[in-house]
Amino acid sequence: MIVRVAFGTVLSLGLAAASPQELITFDGSCVYDGDVLDTEGVYGFESDADAEAATKRIMDQTGLVQNFTIRAADVPNAAAVINGESRMILYNQQFMRDVRRTTNTDWAAVSIMAHEVGHHLQGHTIRAGGSRPASELEADRYSGFVLHKMGATLEQAQAAMNALGSEAGSPTHPRKSARLAAITNGWQAAEDIRRNGTTPASQTPTNASTQSQVPTPPVSGGSGMPVPGTVTSPPPIQYVSRVVFPQDPVVYMVTNAGDIVALTPTGPALVGKRAPPTMPGFAWMYQTAFVTYGVTFAGEVIGQYPNGVFYPVGFVTAPS
Ligand SMILES: [Zn+2]
Repeated sequence: MIVRVAFGTVLSLGLAAASPQELITFDGSCVYDGDVLDTEGVYGFESDADAEAATKRIMDQTGLVQNFTIRAADVPNAAAVINGESRMILYNQQFMRDVRRTTNTDWAAVSIMAHEVGHHLQGHTIRAGGSRPASELEADRYSGFVLHKMGATLEQAQAAMNALGSEAGSPTHPRKSARLAAITNGWQAAEDIRRNGTTPASQTPTNASTQSQVPTPPVSGGSGMPVPGTVTSPPPIQYVSRVVFPQDPVVYMVTNAGDIVALTPTGPALVGKRAPPTMPGFAWMYQTAFVTYGVTFAGEVIGQYPNGVFYPVGFVTAPS
């Protein structure tokens, strides 16, 4: 089997090359599965070069600057933690070695790291209370999405969860079947983008009446509710791309004039503009009266919390 990320190789060296340990304390944490971290803190060591390399490849898929550090540590499996402004991903070297042996694929360890990266990108670790079922599924979905973009098959993206997930789940972590479904959902979204713009079937409104019955969640096309307006570009309108927000059933299109419109039962409604990038790493900005998102060169739509933490909100596809 050809694997692109040799994660287990260096991990097999164990702690032989570990640097002096440091005590890591934290305000909040999200663990990969089950266990709760000791609130007194954990001991961290210098991370493996290949763990750093794998994480860099994960981050390369987002076009964002990595805003966290990685440490090998005495955590039960892996965790995203935050202490003040300092964000970290911690992983247990013995656990990662066991994962690789059990699954027989390096993708398993990469998917666990991607899950933890997902927590940081979505800002989960800034919340008090640690892991929650909904945020775990979001991180699982992200790992499936990014592993597809790195070249993993669905089976490889699911390998770690298949081997480690709890059938029954827990108060903090959903049952294995739900987490596998979340990984599949993310992996399939990336597959649909690879096929050049096919929208995931589950996210496509079947018709206008169904669409209008679905309440619009607060995290949506940026406006929450489409603002009635007139499209400023002269007819005929050409749609050059579509913006998909997985939690929002409304279809958003970008026109050749740079308008962002919502396709409503009564026709296109202007909701915003495609604006030039205002931050490095972004191709353009999705701008409405309410929010501004960055769109990466890979087509991911990224939001940013006031404290600087990025989180994915959607993706851009070809107009269908
Ligand atoms: Zn998690």
